[in-house]
Amino acid sequence: MGHKISILGSTGSIGTQSLDVIEALGMGVAAITGNKNIALLEKQARKFRPEMVAVCDEASAKQLEIALGDTGIRVLGGAYGLLEAAAHRDAETIITAVVGTVGLRPTLAAIKEGKRIALANKETLVCAGEIVMEASRRHNAEILPVDSEHSAIFQCLGSERDKLKRIWLTASGGPFRGRRRGELEGIKKEDALKHPNWSMGSKITIDSATLMNKGLEFIEAMHLFGVTPRQIEVLVHPQSIIHSMVQFRDNSIIAQLGVPDMKIPIQLALTWPDRKPSPAPELDLAQIGSMTFERPDLEAFPCLSLAMDAAKRGGSAPAVMNAANEAAVELFLKDKIGFMDIYARVSAALEHLEHVSSPSLEEILELDSQARAYVSNIN
Ligand code: NAD
Ligand code: MG
Repeated sequence: MGHKISILGSTGSIGTQSLDVIEALGMGVAAITGNKNIALLEKQARKFRPEMVAVCDEASAKQLEIALGDTGIRVLGGAYGLLEAAAHRDAETIITAVVGTVGLRPTLAAIKEGKRIALANKETLVCAGEIVMEASRRHNAEILPVDSEHSAIFQCLGSERDKLKRIWLTASGGPFRGRRRGELEGIKKEDALKHPNWSMGSKITIDSATLMNKGLEFIEAMHLFGVTPRQIEVLVHPQSIIHSMVQFRDNSIIAQLGVPDMKIPIQLALTWPDRKPSPAPELDLAQIGSMTFERPDLEAFPCLSLAMDAAKRGGSAPAVMNAANEAAVELFLKDKIGFMDIYARVSAALEHLEHVSSPSLEEILELDSQARAYVSNIN
């Protein structure tokens, strides 16, 4: 039997692109999971013939079980299904493409089975980076980044990690780059959902507009590459052609370039250390003409500062920030709060909640729910 993959969150932006890559590579699928979109899950299940499908919403799981009745494909409902898909015996690699802290337990379950993790779900590393990285070392489970910046850093580092001086984490700047803080107050959901270079799920698209996404990636990079906050510099590069860079101790800088297409880093995480031909278009630098760079505007985009401060503080701060942000973005997407309230609420949660310097998994999950409740109950 060839190399098989499980995809947690197969119905999302990363999940559907992962299935395209898997099809092109001729790999097999062990399990897929979704939340409520059972029409798409049924289509994916009939096409890729996984051994099982997990559906988080119990009522939707019952419906899908009936719909797939003629196929012999197992359907599991509830949070348990996600764990079973993550630890599936037929899967060598697990793509973590769910959004939010919900990815933490299944990622740990996959790590315990020694699976290769193709990690898209950055929130898992933000809320419990130490625990996840420690588990991956203990169980010899490789974590390969899917996030384009981290895939770039991983590729640039090669075998010279010990000579790394600094990471240059590039950012597009999002749809509101160049605007001042006062101009961001009345931003509408519809405008925030338009990203200039990437088409993604709604939560990460809002995070890209506030620059919280870059803050989450800052913390993700610390854990993946074992660096301190002082070793990471955020650089705005609106064309999204350089996906990030590393600077070695001799001040030589290596960059990774490509068209902004997630299929490139998804595929690399599945084939590494090999590289296969990609369906993604080639980069035409002459047509692009020029690339520009600027410092991020921390005054207009204070979520980025908040994340860098949480990174320096460590302990439970990143977990609280991440959960508060998930809750605040949800409120913004429901038109309950304004764009700059996302920052205000996350900041308030960080001030209000208890700080734990070396939290256990249980403490992290407890603070995660407290942060969500706090953010949702502010009037
Ligand atoms: P998305 O919203 O398009 O998809 C999310 C997936 O998670 C869906 O399959 C959904 O069914 C599932 N899901 C949502 N809530 C769930 C719950 N409570 N329980 C179980 N499953 C649930 O999101 P996306 O853009 O594909 O992003 C997924 C992850 O990848 C995020 O962590 C994001 O930060 C990261 N990422 C995305 C991109 C991108 O280009 N989209 C790039 C880099 C990193
Ligand atoms: Mg990214």
